[in-house]
Amino acid sequence: MSVQQLTILGATGSIGLSTLDVVRRHSDRYQVFALSAASQWQKLADLCIEFQPTYAVIADPQYLPMLEQALAAHATQVLTGVDGLQQVAAHKDVDTVMAAIVGAAGLLPTLAAAEAGKKVLLANKEALVMAGHLFMQAVHDNGATLLPIDSEHNAIFQCLPAGYTHAAAAGVSKILLTASGGPFRTLALDAFAGVTPDQACAHPNWRMGRKISVDSASMMNKGLELIEACWLFNLTPAQVDVVIHPQSVIHSMVQYVDGSVLAQLGNPDMRTPIAHALAWPERIASGVAPLDIIATARLDFEAPDLARFPCLRLAFEAAGNGCASTVLNAANEVAVEAFLAGKLGFDRIAVLNEHAMQQLVDTTPSSLDQVLRIDREARRIAHQWLDHGRLRGDL
Ligand code: NAD
Ligand code: MG
Repeated sequence: MSVQQLTILGATGSIGLSTLDVVRRHSDRYQVFALSAASQWQKLADLCIEFQPTYAVIADPQYLPMLEQALAAHATQVLTGVDGLQQVAAHKDVDTVMAAIVGAAGLLPTLAAAEAGKKVLLANKEALVMAGHLFMQAVHDNGATLLPIDSEHNAIFQCLPAGYTHAAAAGVSKILLTASGGPFRTLALDAFAGVTPDQACAHPNWRMGRKISVDSASMMNKGLELIEACWLFNLTPAQVDVVIHPQSVIHSMVQYVDGSVLAQLGNPDMRTPIAHALAWPERIASGVAPLDIIATARLDFEAPDLARFPCLRLAFEAAGNGCASTVLNAANEVAVEAFLAGKLGFDRIAVLNEHAMQQLVDTTPSSLDQVLRIDREARRIAHQWLDHGRLRGDL
């Protein structure tokens, strides 16, 4: 067994740190080649001192001098900017890239890894929602291996046959994408306007970064995951059912034409899908406690309520619909940032997203430049709506 050289994009985040926790248990299998962060140079420096990577990338250049100084006595070379991220994602010595940057910022480095034919462990769902067609093409054209980290998609991957290409050929009739329902699963519709950022980030089953926590609370996360599933597994939105399952023990299911339903179960801990993808097709210990099925006792299921969670409806409309998912992703990033900054009501996130989708009608983007242009335009429209809303005083 040769040692895998690993780049972790977004090493200081929730997924990045869980990845390093798994790697720490298997130093015979994985060597950290590069670690990256947006601005948290101190946290990145501490990780570099522990893991001694060849490169460290601080995306925001204003923190470069601090990181350089912190690592002056170490062999780790320090890079910055999107160029630096792309360089460590595509470097010839790298085998595996964990794509765990949050949001559209992850697209270019993750794409660089795919274009270099790497084994890409994809947590950064926004990259796929934004540019699914181009990303999947890059994976295909360059012989990259794409392994999903999102727990639902990792579960689906595990429940599909090896060598899967499309649903019909594999006898798959439906994908059942499970959702916890988030912290507001039972909240009355008229209470959504008063939700605070801390309430939205208090997820009942998972500890995650703030952006995905807000997305889980609005169920935009499940919407992004629907679009992600369509790209990863070559599906139409009609082939995916979202099922609310509050315990988050079943991570998703695959229904076959013969009536069989395969599910993947486990404790809600991202180290399971991370360890699965790192070792695939082998298995390694992840540090996750074994599932106690007796203590779990019951598994509940219900249908999602699209009236209380309009972001999920928007995602069903956007999936496979030209540039709509690029627009939805960009508008949602602006909306979540505004909500977290206390500048937008929680119930207005969907209103802003829908506004951007209605403004921007375009054909399926066929080049990276087009995707980036649509992303910029959607953000401009979203910011304009926020500015006007502030004037109207109705945010
Ligand atoms: P996080 O906010 O905890 O971490 C994000 C990481 O990205 C940090 O290291 C940060 O420094 C880096 N980053 C942020 N903006 C950047 C920029 N502009 N340029 C370069 N780097 C930047 O987020 P997270 O919860 O770890 O989520 C990461 C990704 O994984 C997201 O796409 C999320 O949807 C996905 N995901 C997360 C979980 C989870 O349990 N946390 C589960 C499934 C999928
Ligand atoms: Mg998920």
